[in-house]
Amino acid sequence: LDVVRLGKYFPVGGGLRAQQLRALHDASFSLAVREVIALVGESGSGKSTIARLLARLMPPSSGQIVFKGRDVLKEEPTRASLAYRGQVQMIFQDPFGSLNPVHTIGYHLERPLLLHNKAPTPAILREKVHELLKTVDLNPPAEVALKFPYQLSGGQRQRVAIARALAVDPSVILADEPISMLDVSIRMGVLNLMEKLKEERGISYLYITHDIASARYVADRTMVMYAGHIVEGAPSEELMQQPAHPYTKLLLSAVPDPNGSIRGELPARSGAPKLINPPPGCPFADRCPSVMNTCREQMPGAVDVGSGHWVRCHLYAPGSVIAPSALYDRK
Ligand code: SF4
Ligand code: MG
Repeated sequence: LDVVRLGKYFPVGGGLRAQQLRALHDASFSLAVREVIALVGESGSGKSTIARLLARLMPPSSGQIVFKGRDVLKEEPTRASLAYRGQVQMIFQDPFGSLNPVHTIGYHLERPLLLHNKAPTPAILREKVHELLKTVDLNPPAEVALKFPYQLSGGQRQRVAIARALAVDPSVILADEPISMLDVSIRMGVLNLMEKLKEERGISYLYITHDIASARYVADRTMVMYAGHIVEGAPSEELMQQPAHPYTKLLLSAVPDPNGSIRGELPARSGAPKLINPPPGCPFADRCPSVMNTCREQMPGAVDVGSGHWVRCHLYAPGSVIAPSALYDRK
């Protein structure tokens, strides 16, 4: 899945006062088969906007989504988008809100199977529903299928949501904060299930989280977002060991170390970043301990710092800015 310079702006206000809320700027990356990319950042940074654009829940303002070599935004909306949705599924943060309380678990799994013509007879339909429940370790399937969402725990409901995404045999799952509303004790189980499905079914994930520690656990690569920009991307281990962007350093310094204390302190925030008519230059300038004059004038380009690691910051070799296409072209 190639994400090519994707942007999303929302008009706010109207008439002479019309302004633009820039939710996402120029996001580029490629997701390979069986790859997990984590998208990390605080709320309002644009993570969910990327997921919603890739799930085609709304159209982007600019850029392209290329899936298996095809520019999906150019394709005919109906058939092509049904095919795309069968390949690229989304799971949401809230396993409570994403299931309909008046329908059984079985019904939730039958819907996508029928919509995508995966079950020609009622017997096959029932069998497939049971198979899906077994895949996500909800046993015994025949019993679980007859239950209603309120009869399951949060972790079980998130497993149902995952099963529903799997019903159509997707190759990509966009997981928007899939564990953040679950009890800490069951989070690992859901992450391990995702890992198992990656291996067994060759699924790729875009794993969205504000918890950089869980990104390290699940993701091959991690990208950090701030104020609608992807500001850094690297193999996860490299990013955690050698963070380059001042914001990433700040995020990592806020992660509690194993003996429970918090290393370093977050500097007080000088207000949220401006998404409406943002000033020129680096979006992090108001909070950055290393801010320089150029930072307030010029948006930094992406700089390659080696080992598949790049960063958007003026502190790094100004002469070695790479072309945007270097971020999504797979050689
Ligand atoms: Fe800080 Fe400047 Fe780098 Fe932005 S470009 S993160 S303000 S040093
Ligand atoms: Mg979000």
